[in-house]
Amino acid sequence: MILGGTSEATHLSKLVAVAKINATLSFAGRVKRTKPQPIPIRVGGFGGPEGLCDYIVQNKITHVIDATHPFAEQISWNTFKACTDLRIPFAALTRNPWVEEPGDNWKNVDSVKAAAIMLKSYKPRTVFLAIGRIQVPEFKIAQQHKYILRLVDPFEGSLPLKNAHTIISRGPFEVSHDIKLMSENEVNIIICKNSGGTGAVSKLLAGRRLKLPVIMINRPKLPERITYNSPAEIVEWLKH
Ligand code: NAP
Repeated sequence: MILGGTSEATHLSKLVAVAKINATLSFAGRVKRTKPQPIPIRVGGFGGPEGLCDYIVQNKITHVIDATHPFAEQISWNTFKACTDLRIPFAALTRNPWVEEPGDNWKNVDSVKAAAIMLKSYKPRTVFLAIGRIQVPEFKIAQQHKYILRLVDPFEGSLPLKNAHTIISRGPFEVSHDIKLMSENEVNIIICKNSGGTGAVSKLLAGRRLKLPVIMINRPKLPERITYNSPAEIVEWLKH
C-alpha cells in the first residue's frame, strides 16, 4: 500500500503499475477531484494506528510506503506505529527540504501558528500564503494584511480573512507564471512550508527573482525509518 497525496506518490504508482506489483494508493480525501491513477485507490482515514493495523491485516498488505507530504505528521507516526507493531516492512518516499541561498531573506519558524504570530507584528503587506487550506484560520490574528491564497479546492464556508484573494489552481506551477502573479498582485512577502521537491518550488524561485522575504515553516519531526528520495529506489526496495 502506498500512502499518497503527493506527486511523488503518483509517480511511484506509475512505476509500480509498470513493474506489475500489486498495490493500492491511499488518499486522505482532502482534495475533491482526485486525478486518474494507474493503480486502484482507496479514500479516507483508517481510524488511527489501530484502524490502520486492521486495514493492513484485513487486506493482506505486505509492504507499506509512506509517500505522504513531509508535513503530514500524524499519518507518518501512525504508519510507523502500525507497521512496527505488525512487523510489516515499510519505507518512506521523501524529498529534500529547500535550502536558503545567498541573497535569500528567510525567517524560519517551527509551525504555521508561529508564522501567523510573526506576521501579526508586521505593518500591512500583501502576503502570498501557500500553506494549503486547513490552517488558514491561524492568520485571523493578522488581519492588517492582504492575502493571496493559492488553493487546490475553494475554501469551505466563509473565508476567515477579511482581505483575501483566492486562486484555485493545482501544481506543478511555472516560475514565469508565479513572477507575473506576484508582480501583478504586488506581493511583498511569501509564507510557505518547507515542502521541498520541484512541484511547488516555483513560488520560491519567483520570490527569489523578485527579492521577496520569506517566512519559511520548518518541517515537523517525523519517525526514523528507511527513506528513499526517488520512486525508482522504492521499486527496487519492493523487489528485494
Ligand atoms: P495528517 O495530519 O498527517 O493526517 C491526519 C489524518 O488523515 C490521519 O491521521 C489519517 O486519518 C488521515 N490520512 C492522512 N493521510 C492519509 C492517507 N494518505 N491515506 C489515508 N488516510 C490518511 O495529514 P494532513 O497533513 O492532513 O494531510 C492529508 C493528506 O494530504 C496526506 O495524504 C498528505 O500527503 C496530503 N498533503 C498534505 C499537505 C500538508 O501540508 N499537510 C500538503 C500536500 C498534500 P486516520 O487517523 O483516521 O487514519
